[in-house]
Amino acid sequence: MAGMGDHPFRRLPAVAKLLDLPPLAAARDRHPPAAVADAARAEVDALRAALAAGAAPDLDPFAAAERAAARLDADAAPRFRPVINATGVVLHTNLGRSALHEEAARAAADAARGYLNLELDLATGKRSSRQDAVRAGVRAITGAEAATAVNNCAAATVIVLRAVAAGKEVVVSRGQLIEIGGGFRIPDIMAVSGATLREVGTTNITRAADYEAAVGPNTAALMRVHTSNYRVRGFTKSVDLPQLVELGRKHRVAVIDDAGSGQAVDLAAFGLPGEPLVSAGIAAGADLVLFSGDKLLGGPQAGLIAGRADLIQRVERDPLMRAFRLDKMTLAALEATLRLYRDPARAVREIPTLRMLTTPPAELRRRAEAFAARLREVPRVAAEVRDDVAYVGGGSLPDVAVPTSVIAVSVEGVGEGEVAARLRAGSPAVVGRVADGRVLLDLRAVFERDEDALLRAVAAAAR
Ligand SMILES: *Cc1c(COP(=O)(O)O)cnc(C)c1O
Repeated sequence: MAGMGDHPFRRLPAVAKLLDLPPLAAARDRHPPAAVADAARAEVDALRAALAAGAAPDLDPFAAAERAAARLDADAAPRFRPVINATGVVLHTNLGRSALHEEAARAAADAARGYLNLELDLATGKRSSRQDAVRAGVRAITGAEAATAVNNCAAATVIVLRAVAAGKEVVVSRGQLIEIGGGFRIPDIMAVSGATLREVGTTNITRAADYEAAVGPNTAALMRVHTSNYRVRGFTKSVDLPQLVELGRKHRVAVIDDAGSGQAVDLAAFGLPGEPLVSAGIAAGADLVLFSGDKLLGGPQAGLIAGRADLIQRVERDPLMRAFRLDKMTLAALEATLRLYRDPARAVREIPTLRMLTTPPAELRRRAEAFAARLREVPRVAAEVRDDVAYVGGGSLPDVAVPTSVIAVSVEGVGEGEVAARLRAGSPAVVGRVADGRVLLDLRAVFERDEDALLRAVAAAAR
């Protein structure tokens, strides 16, 4: 009998009633009272809306209080969560690119927690430059006479073009008009810097004569841009840096090298050829070399600028420097990372990005076999080791398929997409690859200290 007394809205739990129930009463220990009250009201509003739409929601007050408390916890949880990177992609931009060396992470944490001599010369008591902390380290890895640092390589490109070439022309090969992703396109960067892009050559062929024909009284610089995330193959010609430097000298214009990935020790011997060494640009005579801090350098996000002292001074005097400068935590992490390069062998051994990229395939195989054996002990989980390839990522070495071993995981009765989703939803979250009906876990970028957590995450996803 549907009399007035049975009108569904009358069965809606009252907000005050929900607040008295244990789930929300307990939530007041974790959340501000106003937030708890808001959550109870939002839950009742949602139930009312569902009823109005003709649905039959669960009106049980206890269940409603539990849902409100769960949403409160979810909304209050930090948006950033730790992730186990089982993709095999070491420089995964979506996962934060480089993981810092412990000493760099500690330096950043120490800087964060307290005060430091950021811009104070402790010997004289006078003001100093925050850049002093990283100048020597950048000079040491590049061989340059001067250096400075900004927020990222995109910022480095903008400020360098402004300082060197605003209102003038910069000559760039059409084969190097890159888009890195995330909105970094050389023509757009050039436009915001106030310099005018003078394109020369074609996509596949650019000769010295093309640059030469473009240089005029209004030219400020020749720029070489490393084609980080693609390669032009086949019938191609480009002008190498020493040749570009020769042209620059002849016409008295600056030569800028956007080297991108920031390789400071030669990784070719580890099967990773093709990225420019940051010291090679300076050795070739480039006036300024620019590169990222969080790609192959393995440090925090930063843009390093190395080269001629007079040009570095011009960059530092540019008003944009105030907007692009690094904060104390990043500077501390960068200084610590650069110090590790005083012993290049140690840098390769210990900086996570470098250690992961140079892990021998046999070692990855051994780790994968041992981990697969542990996974096979987990109920409902099947795991087998396969040979595969992975890429460096982060817009570096786009055509170098690095041999690796992956663990192909499946869970009885659960599709691979669902397994991957459960792994992402876990804590810590796990991100792998999905292929051929399996979730593939690559241990290259998984810290050994995280292997137990990874095992628990798979076990949780299989329950
Ligand atoms: C990655 C890259 C950039 C952008 O560097 P961010 O540090 O990500 O801003 C610029 N130029 C080149 C050649 C690159 O490879």
